[in-house]
Amino acid sequence: MNEYDSDRIINSLSAHPVKNPADADVVIVNTCAIRDKADHKAVSAIGRYKKYKISNPNLIIGMAGCVAQLYGKKLIKQIPHLDFVIGPREIGKLKELIKDIKDSSKFKKINTSMDIEEIFKVSPYHEEGKINGFVSIQQGCNKKCAYCIVPTVRGSEVNRPLKQILEESRLLIDQGAKELTYIGQTVNSWRYEGEKFYNLLDHLQELDGLERIRFTTSFPRDITSKMVKSMAKNSKVCRQLHLPVQSGSNRVLKMMNRSYTIEWYRESVLKLKESMPDLSLSTDIIVGFSDESEEDFAQTMQLIEDIRFDTIYSFMYSVRPGTPGEKMSSHVNEEIALDRLHRLQLRQREITLENNLEQLNKDFDVLIEGASKNNPKDLFGRTSQNKVVNIRNLDSSYIGKIVKVRTKEAHQNSFVGELI
Ligand code: SAH
Repeated sequence: MNEYDSDRIINSLSAHPVKNPADADVVIVNTCAIRDKADHKAVSAIGRYKKYKISNPNLIIGMAGCVAQLYGKKLIKQIPHLDFVIGPREIGKLKELIKDIKDSSKFKKINTSMDIEEIFKVSPYHEEGKINGFVSIQQGCNKKCAYCIVPTVRGSEVNRPLKQILEESRLLIDQGAKELTYIGQTVNSWRYEGEKFYNLLDHLQELDGLERIRFTTSFPRDITSKMVKSMAKNSKVCRQLHLPVQSGSNRVLKMMNRSYTIEWYRESVLKLKESMPDLSLSTDIIVGFSDESEEDFAQTMQLIEDIRFDTIYSFMYSVRPGTPGEKMSSHVNEEIALDRLHRLQLRQREITLENNLEQLNKDFDVLIEGASKNNPKDLFGRTSQNKVVNIRNLDSSYIGKIVKVRTKEAHQNSFVGELI
């Protein structure tokens, strides 16, 4: 989501990104407030750019995103070299805002209103020829998860009109994108003028030149039979689903206000796997929420044993200002929470590797994206399941093509494969 917003920031300024901050006229730090750590990072990043302002007093420094939205005026007061803050809903007004600052050198700007008109106005910057891209289909969130700051900083759910989604997709495909990831806080709750998420997948399938469709994040309660059918039937929809469960315990899910039970979650996974046996599942888990007990945590450990996710993003609960979680008592001691996190991550690493080893000597369609991170002579791509496959000594003419590959080595985070 933030990567997408950063690309929108670039386009909203009609700017050319530079590698060295010393060459920039404007530096914007785009920020995330989801956890305490991310939010500290944002403030210290602003500190790092102070020296560039000393050598170039005309440099404009701003903060965008959710931390900007959350603390607004406070940041401007606290950080003297910060010229503006702008919330995630206001990106469309960035050009105007910079102009205002330039016109009046002492002027500091705070744009954190929740105006919804501008929200989808700016499309993201897309590097010519880049194989994958993002398209936002939804902003904000209507779920009221007790731990989560998203509704506070991004506002309530606004679904993007179908026409705009298709137009932005077309734009990116014409610039070379072969794979698009459709994003939103709870994408599968998308609806617009009688169309629902499963219809949207049908429309996206029709886009000429688009090879692959991914989407994230899905909300478990909004998995419907129609959605499962639509995923299975549309050949461009990848065999990958990110379905955050957060906890394996019904007691904790209830405190989190996740609105589904663990039985519902397990049932949804069964339905999905029944119609798409090769579907790769990933999830998010929070440990140490409120008064999570050892017994609650054991249920989370059991869940990962049963479902055998390919990937888990796991976090220690971080209390966020203004959320219902803030008012809940009995927070789990940090040492205990950290220990649970380590146990979860340790076991998951084993499961991921075991899952990967099961995929050895199997054939996959791999969309080649570019030079491998490990060796510039090799190329890498992804399977429909979003697994990274490195292919040795492949020439760059393969970039953007889907090739048949047999996996020859399985590692923790990637495979090595050969063309077949
Ligand atoms: N709207 C999406 C993504 C939210 S942020 C969703 O519902 O899945 C991504 C992940 O960060 C969440 O799924 C959750 O696991 C984690 N997260 C959110 N708030 C958090 C908090 N206060 N402390 C720790 N982790 C948190």
